[in-house]
Amino acid sequence: MKLLVCVKQVPDTKEVKIDPVKGTLIREGIPSILNPDDANALEAALSIKDTAPDAEVHVLTMGPPQAMYMLRECLAMGADYAYLLSDRAFGGADTCATSTTIAAGVNKIGNIDLIFAGRQAIDGDTAQVGPQLAQRLNIPVVTYVKDVDFKPKERVAIVDRQLENGYEVVKVQTPCVLTAVKELNQPRFMSVRGIIEAYEKEIPVWTHEDVDLSPENCGLEASHTQVFRSFTPEPKGRGIMLTGSVPEMADKLIAALGEKHLIG
Ligand code: FAD
Repeated sequence: MKLLVCVKQVPDTKEVKIDPVKGTLIREGIPSILNPDDANALEAALSIKDTAPDAEVHVLTMGPPQAMYMLRECLAMGADYAYLLSDRAFGGADTCATSTTIAAGVNKIGNIDLIFAGRQAIDGDTAQVGPQLAQRLNIPVVTYVKDVDFKPKERVAIVDRQLENGYEVVKVQTPCVLTAVKELNQPRFMSVRGIIEAYEKEIPVWTHEDVDLSPENCGLEASHTQVFRSFTPEPKGRGIMLTGSVPEMADKLIAALGEKHLIG
């Protein structure tokens, strides 16, 4: 049984700032991490492997050469194989081009029974890549997955899909793409043995030629999105805390709104 997890290396957004003049991310000196939802996606695949000895967990990323460190982290957590799609031709990819490239990588690995992705990457934040990948591979997708029961013999997965005020239970045929939310599980830590073994494993690096993509079908050339401007919103003014009993606070609120001529 082959399980695949799509993982993305992202800047730790707690540390990210935007250059106020250029409107671009200041990446220098910002630590890179495994995208948090992808850690949940990986944990889901590893949990299936814990109970199914024949299961293999594969992780795949498209990114620059330094994404190799994140892949080794995934191996150290328990993944069996890792692949890096890295090529100048992939640079400047929007979500369409990203999912095309990842789909080509999935096809190269071949015979995947179940694909996990994170719901959303904390830098790009679009939540588009998982559903687009399913569309490229012509397989079903279920988003916002908070529980999974994979039945490989029946080739189905029963998943709980998170909604705003509850969840729905979906039975989906496999292979399919499931996008994970943080409520799915608690990702495990890397083990010492895993870390040692992770550095003994070879990680293939694939270019556009390796996955049979022409340069015009990947990267900037295949990206239809145009970003006009990125900016940090102006901070809002400080809030005011009203104190006292409810009627007192209501009086203070009415007076404050009156002073600003927001009410008559
Ligand atoms: P989401 O759709 O939010 O991610 C959902 C899930 O998909 C993730 O949790 C993960 O499981 C999977 N996933 C997402 N991305 C990958 C990946 N790369 N590999 C494996 N799995 C993945 N970004 C750059 O870093 N460099 C650039 O030069 C660049 N140029 C861009 C140019 C344009 C015109 C645009 C619009 C965007 C550009 N981006 C660039 C951003 C890039 O398009 C997105 O980061 C990328 O497509 C993923 O989208 P997302 O981050 O919103 O992921």
